[in-house]
Amino acid sequence: MTDEPTGGSPRPLPMRVPADGLPDQVRIHEVGPRDGLQNESSVVPVEVKAEFVHRLAAAGLTTVEATSFVHPRWVPQLADAEELFPLLGDLTGVRLPVLVPNERGLDRALALGAREVAVFASVTESFSRANLNRSVDEALAMFAPVVARAAGAGVRVRGYLSMCFGDPWEGPVPVAQTVHVARRLHELGCDELSLGDTIGVATPGHVSTVLRALLAADIPVQHLAVHFHDTYGQALANTLTALGHGVTTVDASAGGLGGCPFARSATGNLATEDLLWMLRGLGIETGVDLDQLVATSAWMADHLGRPSPSRTVRALSPHPG
Ligand code: MG
Repeated sequence: MTDEPTGGSPRPLPMRVPADGLPDQVRIHEVGPRDGLQNESSVVPVEVKAEFVHRLAAAGLTTVEATSFVHPRWVPQLADAEELFPLLGDLTGVRLPVLVPNERGLDRALALGAREVAVFASVTESFSRANLNRSVDEALAMFAPVVARAAGAGVRVRGYLSMCFGDPWEGPVPVAQTVHVARRLHELGCDELSLGDTIGVATPGHVSTVLRALLAADIPVQHLAVHFHDTYGQALANTLTALGHGVTTVDASAGGLGGCPFARSATGNLATEDLLWMLRGLGIETGVDLDQLVATSAWMADHLGRPSPSRTVRALSPHPG
């Protein structure tokens, strides 16, 4: 091992062994406070959420998706966005994107000084209707003024694409459909597109095919991020595949929040710690301290009253649940 333990008993760390054809650096887009907590059944007090974001930033995460300005009735877990966001005002140098569904959400976010927002589109009609009560085109029309106004205010916009690889109602999703929605969001002016495998069905060959198609459609790789779910244990394999295509922004959720291993409805966000373990082994820089992150996720697991589903958190925690 090249990493020396900092004291006390030695603990496991992956040996740094780089592989060919991968980036030197990856930016982790941490989604725990938003995508994670939104999908947990318990509602976390706003002070705990604020401490969570601060601890994630202290661990070295430079992008932490903080909350969502959707209607509180849709997502009661994040109904305290107005209270939370001002508690993060001291976090300089950390990007704190927030989800906005429409212009009303954008107004709320801008009023609080948000500098980065995200809209969420679906690649499939079924999920667009279920999640947004709109067709894909109607949803894109709703996002157009949001993206334009955000850009006008110098605010960065990320576009989420749900169901890029499979849909619970429609089954396999044609690659052309993903390319179509990606192009539309790119043309609207989104600075970044996050390709979501919402139900976790993607496998590496599929990921390669979709990424090749997007690059062939002139979407620059620097504008692409990947958002894999570990529902079937494929998230890291899919991430590695995306890195091989030049993607350097990867979404992950601290402690695997949002994916309870004991619930069938688990969304199964890729755990940031599991991602970090792999990237560390590959010698890919992230700037994130694995120990601090594990401690943070163990702390949050205590608040939620259940063990983290992250393999790495469990393996490195002093008292694994
Ligand atoms: Mg997710």
